[in-house]
Amino acid sequence: MTNEEIWQAVLGELELTISRASFTTWFKNTYLLTKNEGEFIISVPNGFAKEWLENKFQKEIAKCLQNVTSSRIKRITFCLNSKKDVLLKEKGRTMVFLQPKLNEEVQIIQEEEVVNEYNLNPRYTFENFIVGPNNELAHAAAQAIVQSPGKTYNPLFIYGGVGLGKTHLIQAIGNKVCQVFPKKRIVYISCEKFIEDFITYLQIQKSKDNGFKNKYRKTDYLLIDDIQFLAGKEGTQEEFFHTFNYLYQNNKQIVLTSDRPPKAILGLEDRLVSRFEGGMIADISMPNLETRRAILIAKCKERKVNIPENVLNYIAANIQNNIRELEGALSRLIARCQLNNLTPTEELARHILTNIAGRPNKKAITSRRILETVASFYNIKSEELITKNRKKEIAWPRQIAMYLMRDEIKTSYPTIGQEIGGRDHTTAIHAYEKVSKEIEKDINLRQEIDLIRQKLYTS
Ligand code: ADP
Ligand code: MG
Repeated sequence: MTNEEIWQAVLGELELTISRASFTTWFKNTYLLTKNEGEFIISVPNGFAKEWLENKFQKEIAKCLQNVTSSRIKRITFCLNSKKDVLLKEKGRTMVFLQPKLNEEVQIIQEEEVVNEYNLNPRYTFENFIVGPNNELAHAAAQAIVQSPGKTYNPLFIYGGVGLGKTHLIQAIGNKVCQVFPKKRIVYISCEKFIEDFITYLQIQKSKDNGFKNKYRKTDYLLIDDIQFLAGKEGTQEEFFHTFNYLYQNNKQIVLTSDRPPKAILGLEDRLVSRFEGGMIADISMPNLETRRAILIAKCKERKVNIPENVLNYIAANIQNNIRELEGALSRLIARCQLNNLTPTEELARHILTNIAGRPNKKAITSRRILETVASFYNIKSEELITKNRKKEIAWPRQIAMYLMRDEIKTSYPTIGQEIGGRDHTTAIHAYEKVSKEIEKDINLRQEIDLIRQKLYTS
C-alpha cells in the first residue's frame, strides 16, 4: 500500500467515527508523509490542526492506522506542512504509544515539543515576543548578546515565574543566532537534560568517551533552560563550573534561565551563585493588562482569526499571571467557536474561563498549599516547616509561610501558630512583622515572594 492509500483508508475509517464538521475541520489537507517501522509522520496544514489532532484524535488515528496497516504503532508525529523540505528533519511533536492491542486504549507515554536540529522550537522567535514593561530588560539584553556574544552580558541570567516567557526568550536567542550567524555553534538544553547527559557521561567515562566535554565546550553559545534544577546536584555543579569557566574565558556566550534569582537557589554552590551574579541578571515579571492584551492580539493575528476587542479584553483582564494560560484560554475559545460554528462573545469567554480546570482562585488557597509551595520553592520538605528546627534554611522559609498565610488568606495569628506546628500566636505576629519589614527594604526579597505567590496561583 502506498502512503496515500493508507491515509485514505484511515480517513475513511475516521469519517465514520467522528462528526462531519469535526472531520472536515481537522482532517482537511492532512496526509501521511512517511512511515518507517511503526513510526508515522502525518503532515497537517496548520498549528491549530496539529494541536487538535494531537490532543483530541491521536488515539483514534492510532487505532485506525493499526487496523489499516496491521502493524504495531510505535510513534505518531504531526508535522506542519508549510515547509516541506524541513519536515523530515523536524522531529515534530512526538507521541510514543505503548503497543496497542486491538480496541484497547492507546496510552501516551511520552510527548516532545517541535524542535529543529538544535532542539529549538522554531515557534519561539523575537518577532513574536511581545515586549512590555515586565520583560523589556530581559528582551533587550537577549537581543544585545545575539549581536555581541560573550562581551556585553556574560552570563545573561533570566529569571521569572512559570509561563512568563523564559523558554521563549532563550530559544529566540538560539533561533536568531541560527538565522543571522549560521556558522556559529549553539547548544540549547534543559538543565534536566544536561544533568542526564552528565550522568551518562560518568557511566561511560571509563571507555574514554569525551563527547560530553566536547559538546558543551565547543560551542559559541551555551543556552541552559531552568538552571534552578542544578540545586543539590553537586557532581553536575562541579562539572558545570568548569564548563562555565572554560566558555567564559574563551568569550563564549552563556545564557541561563531560572524560576528565581541566583541567590534564591538553595543548594547551589556559592561559587556558581557568584558567577551567575557576575553577568547580567534580568527578571521577567507578570505582564500588565496592556501587555496581556497585546499578546492576545498578536496570537489572533498569528492564527488569522478575528476576535472582538471586548472579548480579548475580558480574557486579558481575567488571566493575569501566566501567559501560557492566557494563550490556552484563547485556544479554547477559538476551538469552541470553530467546532460549533459560534461567534466569539464575552459570554462564551466567561463560560470557558470558569471551566478552566484546576485554576485555583483565592479561596482555594489553603495554609497547607502555602506550606507546600513555600517548601518546594526552597527545596525543603513541608514537614520540616512545622518542626522545631531553628536552622536558618528552615526558619526563614517558615517565617515566609506564616507571612503568606496572613497576607494571602488572612488567617488569624492563633490559627497560623497552630498550623505551623502548634506555635504561639506571638510567633506568627513576629514572623509577619519581620517579613513585612524586610520586604520594604529588600527589593530582591519582594521579587522572591512574588515568585512564590505566582506558584501558589499557577502550579
Ligand atoms: P516559561 O519558560 O517562563 O515558563 P514560556 O517561555 O514557556 O514560559 O512561555 C509560555 C507561553 O507563553 C509560550 O507559548 C510563549 O510563547 C508565550 N509567551 C510568553 N511570553 C510571551 C511574550 N512576551 N509574547 C508572546 N508570547 C509569549
Ligand atoms: Mg520554561
